[in-house]
Amino acid sequence: MAQMRLYNTMTRRVEEFAPADGRTARMYTCGPTVYNPAHLGNFRTFLFEDLLRRVLRLAGHDVLQVMNLTDVDDKIIKRAAEQRATIGQVTEPVVETFHADRKFLRIEDAEEYPKATEHIPEMIALVESLVERGLAYQAEDGSVYFAIGKFDGYGKLSRLDTREIRTGARVAQDDYTKENAQDFALWKSAKPEDEAAAAAWDSPWGRGRPGWHLECSAMAMKYLGKTMDIHCGGVDLVFPHHEDEIAQSEGATGAEFARFWCHGEFLLTDGSKMAKRIGNVATVAELREQGVSAAAFRHFVFSTHYRKQLNLSGDAIEASIEGVRRVRDFVERLETATGGTAELAEAGKELVRDAEAALFDDLNAPAALGALFTFIRRANAELDKRGNDAGALRSAREAFARINGVLDIVPDAQQADDELAAWVDERLAARKDARARRDFASADAIRAEIEARGVAIEDGPWGTRWKLAR
Ligand code: AMP
Ligand code: ZN
Repeated sequence: MAQMRLYNTMTRRVEEFAPADGRTARMYTCGPTVYNPAHLGNFRTFLFEDLLRRVLRLAGHDVLQVMNLTDVDDKIIKRAAEQRATIGQVTEPVVETFHADRKFLRIEDAEEYPKATEHIPEMIALVESLVERGLAYQAEDGSVYFAIGKFDGYGKLSRLDTREIRTGARVAQDDYTKENAQDFALWKSAKPEDEAAAAAWDSPWGRGRPGWHLECSAMAMKYLGKTMDIHCGGVDLVFPHHEDEIAQSEGATGAEFARFWCHGEFLLTDGSKMAKRIGNVATVAELREQGVSAAAFRHFVFSTHYRKQLNLSGDAIEASIEGVRRVRDFVERLETATGGTAELAEAGKELVRDAEAALFDDLNAPAALGALFTFIRRANAELDKRGNDAGALRSAREAFARINGVLDIVPDAQQADDELAAWVDERLAARKDARARRDFASADAIRAEIEARGVAIEDGPWGTRWKLAR
């Protein structure tokens, strides 16, 4: 078992990490709110968590990861009202898209994907125990609130200045600012729009629905017990979401909720936080349309440490496309080589040593990428020598596979997928028709449309041929 270090938001320090039971790292990663397809900012956080689970395994630990799907909350109900639909009708297709996008980006499956709507009894039980302990109360509006003034540790994760805590004042919405640290809703009494969207359940406090924070506490403790090893999310979740999760969970059990709190920084576009409401959003669908591979996007994300902000730009993506093309070329050479040199084996050893040291030191993926590219340069030079040491070649291949098993940045072979191929064929047929009609403007527009998807076309005596430009 290798020693690993992780930054813990609770202590604001990098600390040595090992699972409490010495074997399985139990982690909870706050999942998407499924009212809209997740954007690339969300996926930066999910990729940081994918990196974490792969590094935990590299260090010799088993992993039990739970990622919830928030399928009832303020935003989903608002969306359902707009569409005159139920929350289930809003969330079902979005959950499907989430898994498809996640698989495209090679994000490994978590062990559990619990949905909030399927854990209402657990949530009600948690509220009941908080009421019994005097930490929660039903207000005149029928909703049940958490009394932050009664819980000693309130604010310890986000280091709220106690002056900012306003005991007695109440906030019903799921998301609010530090300036508004108030008693927050655990269970919200049902409004007509909740009933209309099928987002209301019976409870000891009448018809109602859970608050967002409550959902995570109940599901985390159901699957991971009172104390988990690592709780993750993006930095925006530190307050109020994770602060409130701690209050609810520790208030009910008296046990420490999470030993480590790990937060990933934001993906920005043009310098501001990517968020749906700003509209500067890119999605996995857009990446795919632009022919950006999963390998290239992973390379882009892992080029910056997870605790630093990362700016999404065309230039950075282009550089990553070029970077993983070199990886692909190298892998083809490594696969077809028949032997190596002693120095090749040595380069492989150094790759494993340096990349592991980097990854175990608070997931330093940029340094691990650096080690990988150094290895590629050295190994290419050694392969030029056409050595005949089969054992050296094998150990270089193993070294590469070990580190790439974490980063996962080899693009698929340069083949168009069937969907793209069918589309190109259809467009080329349309272009041929346009030319036959002597409608050259349309023909040129179609050519531009095809090229915009990274496909180069070439007219010749044999007709038109095409290939992927990158
Ligand atoms: P949500 O669907 O809004 O609950 O967010 C899902 C996850 O994405 C959470 O862990 C958020 O902290 C994270 N997140 C939201 N916006 C960004 C962003 N621009 N960059 C990185 N992570 C983000
Ligand atoms: Zn959560």
